[in-house]
Amino acid sequence: MPIDPVCKMEISIADAAASHDYHTETLYFCSIDCLRKFESDPAVYMDDMGDEERIA
Ligand SMILES: [Zn+2]
Repeated sequence: MPIDPVCKMEISIADAAASHDYHTETLYFCSIDCLRKFESDPAVYMDDMGDEERIA
């Protein structure tokens, strides 16, 4: 299940209120509010994910 990077909630793609293409992946958000927060400062939320795969 995708995780909303803003509030860290697991959401199903069918229930996502919004999606956003960020680099090579599509992110899903529980609400438009979370999407807006993400768009205002994406790096903050992406760093929080601890995505080790992206560290080359
Ligand atoms: Zn959310």
